[in-house]
Amino acid sequence: MSSTDKVILVTGGAGYIGSHTALLLLEAGYKVYIIDNLDNSVEEAIERVAKLAGKYRKNLFFYKVDLRNKDQLEKIFSMVRFDAVVHFAGLKAVGESVAKPLLYHENNLIGTLNLLDLMNEHGCTKLVFSSSATVYGQPKSVPCTEDFPLSATNPYGRTKLFIEEIIRDVQKADPEWSVILLRYFNPVGAHQSGLIGEDPRGIPNNLMPFVQQVAVGRLAELSVFGTDYPTRDGTGVRDYIHVMDLADGHIAALRKLFTGAKGCSVYNLGTGRGTSVLEIVAAFERASGKKIPLKFIGRRAGDSSEVYASTEKVERELHWRARYGIDEMCRDQWNWARENPWGYRAPDSMQQSVESSRF
Ligand code: NAD
Ligand code: UDP
Repeated sequence: MSSTDKVILVTGGAGYIGSHTALLLLEAGYKVYIIDNLDNSVEEAIERVAKLAGKYRKNLFFYKVDLRNKDQLEKIFSMVRFDAVVHFAGLKAVGESVAKPLLYHENNLIGTLNLLDLMNEHGCTKLVFSSSATVYGQPKSVPCTEDFPLSATNPYGRTKLFIEEIIRDVQKADPEWSVILLRYFNPVGAHQSGLIGEDPRGIPNNLMPFVQQVAVGRLAELSVFGTDYPTRDGTGVRDYIHVMDLADGHIAALRKLFTGAKGCSVYNLGTGRGTSVLEIVAAFERASGKKIPLKFIGRRAGDSSEVYASTEKVERELHWRARYGIDEMCRDQWNWARENPWGYRAPDSMQQSVESSRF
């Protein structure tokens, strides 16, 4: 069976990482069924994926379904025989998860339980799951290897930790299952076309989309959280990874599953290199030609000083390695920002939604 015959269910495929991965899957010859409730995304993203996919667009299907709605999900499983599932769907905002823990547990856990149950029922036993470096909690040292102790510092992280454990249990109960848990570090950047990218709702929590919105004039300045970390310039260090490299990591994971990998394996997806906040700002200024005004403030609660991945295991076993560096990440982030300063939404509708929510 070539990849052309294989059918992949992509949950959360309208979102940031899911849309980029769906495109690469199509280009690799897979049939792609996206399920998304559009809670944190828009259908336009899928239309743009279709446009970019060219001759492969005929292999792309979309169903607006909430994973918590098991009846609707069941209908899709009854209609299509999936060879594997790539499970991105979930809520991901750390701050919101602290304020609304039940929503996070309900959405991420119930959605995943429904999915796993239906996979079991329909004999689909290959799964790639979007986990996160957040499961390393505040790592005692760097680089983080996959066997580090796991912990969570907020409800979002706890959902990732719980889901990892649930999946491990399911796989143990039925060795037919083969699973890859991918722990992403800090995804940034966009497809080189500038047609798809990250489009956060409201004020971004993460560094790169925040910097982007300062560059296009939507926000006035970047607050730098902490200048007294034991790092080279005192600001926090993270492992930023180009979203196209990340998407490619999923292709590598599926390839491994389809060549007979058994059990449940876990891999970091990062570059293995750390970059500070000030280095990101400098790289973005170079890429965009825009000055990013800074305000230096105190540390953000719960932040680690330095987190980056060990990539040894993923390089050795999945034969995957990130290709892009910080300059390319900023170039493509800026390209997306310049072409779509208001994301997928037109500035007019954005303006209206801001105005209509005023009393
Ligand atoms: P995203 O919000 O852009 O995409 C997630 C998608 O899932 C959205 O389109 C949303 O509408 C959909 N969704 C959420 N709940 C759903 C439900 N119950 N039913 C159907 N669809 C639902 O986020 P992303 O950045 O693309 O992240 C994808 C996955 O990767 C998430 O699981 C996230 O936790 C994980 N992850 C992301 C990052 C990051 O920094 N972006 C880092 C580590 C892990
Ligand atoms: N950061 C910052 N200002 C912001 C957002 C983030 O200084 O407005 C810093 C943050 O303290 C961390 C780095 O940028 O050192 C990356 O933060 P992000 O939230 O993007 O990723 P995470 O901390 O979850 O890895």
